[in-house]
Amino acid sequence: NLILSFETSCDETSVAVIENGDKILSNIVATQIKSHQRFGGVVPEVASRHHIEQITGCINDALRKADVDYADLDAVAVTYGPGLVGALLIGVTAAKAVAWAHHLPLIPVNHLAGHIYGARLVAPIEFPAMALVVSGGHTELVYMPKENQFEIIGETRDDAAGEAYDKIGRVLGINYPAGKQVDSMAHKGTDTFHFPRAMDNDETFDFSFSGLKSAFINTVHHADQIHETLDKNDLAASFQQAVIDVLADKTVRALKTYPVKQLILAGGVAANRGLRDRLESEINAFPNTKLALVPLSLCGDNAAMIGAAGEMLYRYQTFTDATLNADPGLEFAWLGEAES
Ligand code: ATP
Ligand code: MG
Ligand code: FE
Repeated sequence: NLILSFETSCDETSVAVIENGDKILSNIVATQIKSHQRFGGVVPEVASRHHIEQITGCINDALRKADVDYADLDAVAVTYGPGLVGALLIGVTAAKAVAWAHHLPLIPVNHLAGHIYGARLVAPIEFPAMALVVSGGHTELVYMPKENQFEIIGETRDDAAGEAYDKIGRVLGINYPAGKQVDSMAHKGTDTFHFPRAMDNDETFDFSFSGLKSAFINTVHHADQIHETLDKNDLAASFQQAVIDVLADKTVRALKTYPVKQLILAGGVAANRGLRDRLESEINAFPNTKLALVPLSLCGDNAAMIGAAGEMLYRYQTFTDATLNADPGLEFAWLGEAES
């Protein structure tokens, strides 16, 4: 199958052409980060306007780069949630228009399923699988007994991991999104502050990052007040070590409770070098579990991952029609209910 896929849930306008669920013929990503930086985060109205301006060019570029025509396509796939409603609507509307004009089936894709299926672009997913999805808006452990089934066994009770990175990054004077730079600073420092590892030892698979964020901000503000200068690399390293410890410990515990063939690391924060290294070493204790790291270039939002998930849904004939609407709070359950 040839699938034209759309992703506009946040601040990336992206259109891709994916062949048979794992071959990227094109993956055009137009980022708007520059426009949001001076506000320190994504401004929904600004995001929507950029998506409108970019979407047609992205479609044309994706088709041209893949060297395919509308007539070659078998389906259209689109992210319809979760995300910013005004941003999602641009992709949903564009995808509906293309599907209707060219008589193509329309596949509705959950953005987080897309992040997970980013792993499919490298190798087939083996089930049962566990996914650690860490992104700007989500931190979840998702158990997948089989294809197209998603059970959230743990999630953040407050901030997402990426959100915490972005917020403490602001205190360090780093532009939004701060994750990548905090990551590289962390590699130049050491964990000297020993920030709290919230919920690390409880029975759940849930996470909490707001206490860590507050501890970090209080430490920096207190130092400011007494005119003490703290080493920013050590601050970054201490923050990152606390995040990685909790993510890794909970994931290890999840793998003990749910033996799986594959552990998938997905989402924007999956680009984190420290986290990738840590999971690569932890997985050695699980000889029957392979680690699938979504490639760095596909960790952030992109339409290729939506096309990969779209191909899987195509095989289940999960199609929608012109009544499809954006669903900003879309949850995973709909997928699990669809098939058994
Ligand atoms: P969601 O996927 O939950 O809807 P989103 O799409 O906004 O949210 P992504 O684009 O998947 O999130 O990820 C962006 C996040 O990833 C940002 O918070 C960014 O700081 C973070 N990030 C990117 N690279 C790194 C890194 N190397 N280390 C830590 N965090 C990172
Ligand atoms: Mg983004
Ligand atoms: Fe995302």
